Amino acid sequence: MDITTQGLRSMDHGQLVQLIEEQSHSPDPAILEAARSIRDSVYGRKVYFRGLIEISNHCKNDCYYCGIRRDNRQVSRYRLTKDQILHCCRLGHSLGFHTFVLQGGEDPWFTAQRVADLVASIKEEFPDCAVTLSLGEKEEEEYRAYRDAGADRYLLRHETADDIHYRHLHPREMSPDHRKQCLWTLKRLGFQVGAGVMIGSPGQTANELAQDLLFLKELHPHMVGIGPFIPHEDTPFRDKSAGSIPQTILMLALTRILLPHVLLPATTALGSLDPMGREKGMDAGANVVMPNLSPTDVRQLYTLYNGKLSTGEEAAEGLKALKQRIRAAGYEPDLSRGDYKV
Ligand code: SAM
Repeated sequence: MDITTQGLRSMDHGQLVQLIEEQSHSPDPAILEAARSIRDSVYGRKVYFRGLIEISNHCKNDCYYCGIRRDNRQVSRYRLTKDQILHCCRLGHSLGFHTFVLQGGEDPWFTAQRVADLVASIKEEFPDCAVTLSLGEKEEEEYRAYRDAGADRYLLRHETADDIHYRHLHPREMSPDHRKQCLWTLKRLGFQVGAGVMIGSPGQTANELAQDLLFLKELHPHMVGIGPFIPHEDTPFRDKSAGSIPQTILMLALTRILLPHVLLPATTALGSLDPMGREKGMDAGANVVMPNLSPTDVRQLYTLYNGKLSTGEEAAEGLKALKQRIRAAGYEPDLSRGDYKV
């Protein structure tokens, strides 16, 4: 196998499958080194901070893996008010954040108008900040309303590029084509767009992961969220195994090599599954972290998987600890907007 950067970039589906099968248990250090040096040449040693605000755990979807799925009756549902969300932004801004990520289940209460009003208010109060939305699949007019109100970025993991695997993870009413179409629409509307996958979702093999890499190459998103699947006790996948850390690290490194300019989070799921997960992610080319700015009393209600990191931590104390860890690992915390570098 030619694991030079050029070799990896030109692999077809069959070669990627073989590579992933061979490398998933213990990725070759040369692959991780290549990913690091590509990241360093584009972004240096900076690790960008995004303040995550989990605005609602109501969801109309019933994804088999997700703790806030519609049919989970064990969840107490909450929805933050506009005032609460603005308060989170004020707290974040006072701590130095310049990107706010508003994430939630697909909650119909958050109509296009309400979201647009929220985005416009955040942009008015914090014109120096980027607003990222992660609210699921919508129609074009709704995305356009968000964009017109000033939203800068949108995160929508495609979850898997393989249609059959997608159907193993989601009920029939959800369509893999629609999800992918949303990503193309978001790009066309001028958002900085984030796609992404869970690693080790039940039934996933190297075949699906190879397809994910090829889909990412084709879509060429600005951000890619890659984290391990972690089971949640109140979902149909409660007895399934979590994704593997080395395979997640491999996929992060390959993504960095294929998309040199990508903004790549060392995800909370990676840090939740392995105490050194985020450091391992950065050493495989990741350069973003997303600390939680949600009110502490709702954090345990936004439980996508069991064992989620930092659920009770105050934002300021969490931020200080995370900055220290990032410095100790040889990186430089950066709380600026951290836009995609062309
Ligand atoms: N509703 C929005 C959407 O569909 O994009 C955003 C919220 S959704 C809960 C955010 C992401 O959480 C999903 O894209 C999925 O990849 C991840 N997620 C959900 N359940 C998970 C689990 N059990 N393990 C790891 N990640 C999970």
